[in-house]
Amino acid sequence: MDNKKYDYLIVGAGLFGSVFAHEMKKKGKTCLLIEKRNHIAGNIFTEKIEGINVHKYGAHIFHTSNKKIWDYVNSFGEFNRFTNSPIANYKGKLYNLPFNMNTFYQLWGVKTPEEAKQKIEEQKAKYAHITEPKNLEEQALVLGGKDIYEKLIKGYTEKQWGRPAIEIPAFIIRRLPFRFTFDNNYFNDIYQGIPVEGYTKLVEKMLDGIEVINNVNYFEDKQKWNNMADKVIFTGKIDEFYNFQFGELEYRSLHFENEILDTSNYQGNAVVNYTEKEIPYTRIIEHKHFEFGTQEKTYITREYPHEFSTNKESYYPINDDKNQAIFDKYQKLSLKDDKVIFGGRLAEYKYYDMHHVIDKALQLTEKL
Ligand code: FAD
Ligand code: UDP
Repeated sequence: MDNKKYDYLIVGAGLFGSVFAHEMKKKGKTCLLIEKRNHIAGNIFTEKIEGINVHKYGAHIFHTSNKKIWDYVNSFGEFNRFTNSPIANYKGKLYNLPFNMNTFYQLWGVKTPEEAKQKIEEQKAKYAHITEPKNLEEQALVLGGKDIYEKLIKGYTEKQWGRPAIEIPAFIIRRLPFRFTFDNNYFNDIYQGIPVEGYTKLVEKMLDGIEVINNVNYFEDKQKWNNMADKVIFTGKIDEFYNFQFGELEYRSLHFENEILDTSNYQGNAVVNYTEKEIPYTRIIEHKHFEFGTQEKTYITREYPHEFSTNKESYYPINDDKNQAIFDKYQKLSLKDDKVIFGGRLAEYKYYDMHHVIDKALQLTEKL
């Protein structure tokens, strides 16, 4: 019996799946979305608690320099003017992030860009022989020298990734701006903000009129779901899709400890990073500051890095050579599949930000 019903079955109601479904519906295609969690929006899920939009899977700040993507997300709801400017706490002393004139003043008392450049040149001189940094430690030393590396990078990075900085790819630290102005904006992008009504509302609007079934794991009846559509868009883990036949891809996981506090303002900033190794969490998030909240209570989250295991969430792909080689094998296999298309951070095993994911999903819908 032919029980084909939909043009697309989409596995995963995260950002990739939701943008895809929205666009294909606009083109007159029928989509069925299945999601194993009990909610939509994937890792950008927010939940209103004590009147505060709580980022349940870690802090999410939207940023992009692509006007098309910025206009696109704004078409689903208003964004506020939040600019991420985390504070680093190293052994009780506070520093501004990312690395900028405020940080250099706090580290060395230098007051002008000229003085700061001179100080950093001194700090870097010892590492001038490193022409092509092979790992994160070398990259950080070449960028800013020893003081910045030891106070603001090493401890945080080694906690976050659960391994020495010499075993972590260099590109990860190149994400962070390094500038000689008094500008604490964590991103260099032109546009930045947080959806006023929370990310979940934004995704809800994307999925307006689209059939979504929650609490369903595709793998429990892959055949049945495949038979329900002409094509499958898979946004889960690519290694799991192929029964781990080339081995398991490694991730870093996280553990969140949440607390509602009877105070209106706990730390005065949305994000405070703890950059020393001895403190077990990497950062404390105070969610109300993402939206300039004035509630009587506050909601905070301590974010602990965690070793990945089968029953933990896969948060950060570990794009080192070993894992990349495994991924390449899965990708090769996936390119031969003409029924299933793989997209999003888990299926593509990439450290994607939200704007990358939207861009990728839009490109795919344009191609189809
Ligand atoms: P996901 O959100 O993971 O969605 C995939 C969905 O598929 C999930 O809901 C999952 O449950 C579902 N699924 C998987 N397997 C199955 C299955 N077998 N059956 C059914 N459903 C399945 N980006 C930014 O731009 N700014 C930030 O500040 C930022 N901060 C971040 C902080 C943290 C801690 C993390 C981990 C990421 C951050 N990101 C940030 C990245 C952002 O979360 C991702 O780019 C985005 O959420 C990826 O969307 P996705 O749809 O690809 O994946
Ligand atoms: N990082 C750091 N100190 C900080 C913040 C970030 O050393 O206070 C490094 C760390 O290696 C991290 C990388 O920069 O993994 C990228 O940071 P980002 O904030 O983009 O991502 P995170 O991994 O913190 O979610």
